[in-house]
Amino acid sequence: MPRPSLEVADVFRAHGAEWRRANAGHIGLGQLKVMSAIESCRTASLGGHVARCQDCAHTLIAYNSCRNRHCPKCQGAAAKQWLAERQAELLPVPYYHVVFTLPAQIADIAYQNKAVIYAILFKAAAETLIRIAADPKHLGAHIALTAVLHTWARRSPIIPTSIS
Ligand SMILES: [Zn+2]
Repeated sequence: MPRPSLEVADVFRAHGAEWRRANAGHIGLGQLKVMSAIESCRTASLGGHVARCQDCAHTLIAYNSCRNRHCPKCQGAAAKQWLAERQAELLPVPYYHVVFTLPAQIADIAYQNKAVIYAILFKAAAETLIRIAADPKHLGAHIALTAVLHTWARRSPIIPTSIS
């Protein structure tokens, strides 16, 4: 697969340090780690290996990947595969995109208790959808759902926000 002319890593390497300085105090440690991982992904800083053809001596250097779940290079293929698997499960029926958002007042609690709060959020969202859909006044149907957690808010970089 050909390399795109401009990657997220290129932007981070060119402007990441300046952006981090300008936004100091507003960036979470997790986000800094992601930026660092993306910046160093498939560069000499993560090490690598050299492959050499025994016949023609052609040499290929391959640097290690960061394997960060937010890295577009590392997770792009996994995301495409996940999406293809979900699409294969789709039934020929209408689908709806519904977003549940955590109230801002819960953000600090959620940040410190991710597993508990996310479990409650998923359970509450699923039960709400199933109950409302089952109501004959609404849909009157037994539904299924796929829930995905979006942990990075659009407005705030560290508040876990929603599932959809
Ligand atoms: Zn990576």
